[in-house]
Amino acid sequence: EFYLQNIAEKNTQLNAFLKVFDQEALAKADEIDQKIKTGNAGKLAGMVIGIKDLLCYKDHTSTAGSKILGGFESQFNATAVQRVIDADAIIIGSQNCDEFGMGSTNENSAYGACLNAVGTNRVAGGSSGGSAVAVQADMCLASLGTDTGGSVRMPAGFCGLVGLKPTYTRVSRWGLIAYASSFDCIGPITKSVEDAAILLEIIAGKDEQDSTVSRLEVPQYSAFDTTHKTLKIGYLKEAVESAGLQPEVREATWAKLEALKAAGHVVEAVEFPLIKYFLPTYYILTTAEASSNLSRFDGVKYGHRSNQATDLMSMYKKSRAEGFGKEVKRRIMLGTFVLSASYYDAYYTKAQKVRRLIKDYTDQLLSEYDFLVCPTTPTTAYKIGEKTSDPIQMYLGDLFTVQANVVGLPAISIPNGVDNDGMPIGFQIMGGAFQEKALLSFAKSLY
Ligand code: GLN
Repeated sequence: EFYLQNIAEKNTQLNAFLKVFDQEALAKADEIDQKIKTGNAGKLAGMVIGIKDLLCYKDHTSTAGSKILGGFESQFNATAVQRVIDADAIIIGSQNCDEFGMGSTNENSAYGACLNAVGTNRVAGGSSGGSAVAVQADMCLASLGTDTGGSVRMPAGFCGLVGLKPTYTRVSRWGLIAYASSFDCIGPITKSVEDAAILLEIIAGKDEQDSTVSRLEVPQYSAFDTTHKTLKIGYLKEAVESAGLQPEVREATWAKLEALKAAGHVVEAVEFPLIKYFLPTYYILTTAEASSNLSRFDGVKYGHRSNQATDLMSMYKKSRAEGFGKEVKRRIMLGTFVLSASYYDAYYTKAQKVRRLIKDYTDQLLSEYDFLVCPTTPTTAYKIGEKTSDPIQMYLGDLFTVQANVVGLPAISIPNGVDNDGMPIGFQIMGGAFQEKALLSFAKSLY
């Protein structure tokens, strides 16, 4: 009732939820109350969760923030969704996001932008903007978002929250509407590191529906390792010293690094000359994968079908032309271009090779350092509309977050103060593959 009340008061303005399942949520709450009385409630009993509209929820609409999936109802649950339901969480609604997860501000949603609750002329961050603002404005306790290049960490950073992107393959992608399959990850957005850990231990682990999921045992992430170890922490020199950093973000990051030193950790600058290839590699490979993944939206199987069509070909074309937004079309065209016969080697193959170089170099650094840290984003949340006319400017904001997805490693964003306008600043920590327990324990010691 508390969360529904807040939704009633704030959602019209903030636009975080696309759908609210109020009656269902209340009925489920009653059911859980009974279970608690009889002592057989699940681990998440009563945890009120919102889910990004990119996750399939049986018999509920899942639009991916797109007109092309307007009115589409899933026939099954995403594995992560099923698992939180099985653990007795309450799903209160589906959340606004950039169309198919393509964006950094939530302004690319077919259902309107979601606004940051701190200073509502500011963006929420994207693409899981609705998921972040819903937690920020107490419209739910936690959210499940998705992170292909920062979409959990970036809005978490912009909204003063914790956002965790797990290791690639740690969480099943079954029921996650695909953007770029070799990058996509489901992750929690929460107010505390502990809630992120609790959610991860529920949603992670092997799944018959997704053969790429790791079969590694899921540790109890929320049993934090509290033994104080002296850690070796590398900060990305090019990131922390970049001229493009907003001054307050730089100061907050330095202050955090100083605090780490004062706590006895070894903090060193590491050079990453390949940083200039992070964004080109990411945008070439993700658009390639997106152009292929999104070919399934053809007006035949699900979602929007144009009523202007005269034959099969025109149905495909018109349904897609009417259904997809501008940014999605841009990416389909870019992806199709880099996969085309004459450019495949020059762009796609090349980017795959660079991806390998970035991965090898990152792994090498993580064999020397426990964690790599940097600000989550170069600036705090932009003003609404500030970057919408220039996609390159928009892409530049992803510079620090895409690396974790390019290399498949876990990374977390935790709050690190605010700027002069009171807008939250994020601090990002990246760890080794499947080292979420160490990552979360370290994050917990800081926040
Ligand atoms: N902003 C990035 C993009 O537009 C990341 C999106 C995401 O993680 N889904 O691709």
